[in-house]
Amino acid sequence: MMLDNGRVKHIVGEKAEYLVFPELEKYPELGVAFAIRGAKGYHYEPISPEVDYSGIASELGIRVEDLVMPFQAHTDVVAEYDDAVREFKDTDGLVTAKCGAVLCTKVADCISLLMYDPIRHAIANIHSGWRGTLQKIAQNGLRKMVAEYGTRTSDLICVICPSIRQDHFEVDQDVYGEFAKAYPEIINEITIRKNNKYYIDTVRCNTWLLERAGVKMENIIDSVLCTVCHKDLINSYRGNIEGEKHFRNLALIWLKD
Ligand SMILES: [Zn+2]
Repeated sequence: MMLDNGRVKHIVGEKAEYLVFPELEKYPELGVAFAIRGAKGYHYEPISPEVDYSGIASELGIRVEDLVMPFQAHTDVVAEYDDAVREFKDTDGLVTAKCGAVLCTKVADCISLLMYDPIRHAIANIHSGWRGTLQKIAQNGLRKMVAEYGTRTSDLICVICPSIRQDHFEVDQDVYGEFAKAYPEIINEITIRKNNKYYIDTVRCNTWLLERAGVKMENIIDSVLCTVCHKDLINSYRGNIEGEKHFRNLALIWLKD
């Protein structure tokens, strides 16, 4: 089965399997991909000798040594990548205007937000899981781009990678309560209540943050893919068969040299 749906093109390469986003192909200076299960798993830590990134790198025409991976920790911290700094502790988002640096996040149900400012030629890669969504890390990503590059949010294009969707994001009262506190304006819109369980639309939380900050609705490209529904093809934490290793997908964005 393939995951093509108009917004997403599913590529089965010889060395890796990944998704690309046709609406971004009009920017030849930009590289964007989302490596999935067929690309083998990626561990949580950036530096794990047993993980081989050469397959996906060679498929995409990039170099393994150009991959920049923060130590994700479900924070709201977004940092700027420049040549001097390569190690990012407790960081869940990166921005850069440097060509060649491939910003990465690893997710297995969490949302990766990939942003491109085609006017200022700057990019962002933000890990927004449900904890990051509660802390509104998307907002911090936008602020960072505005502060570092003078980005106008109305110029930004934003991809929402495959993630756990409302149909599978079942939570109890405590987590629902946290969302009600963080998102009182839209709590009814983002919640379905069924048999004393709550189903939260974390994608809507993120698109709401983006739209409220000035990102145009038509510039938000949602993959519309649920990782749990497609656990046979995309790494999923909740969808994993018990006992199986928890692998992650790799979201990559870069400005070509
Ligand atoms: Zn689902």
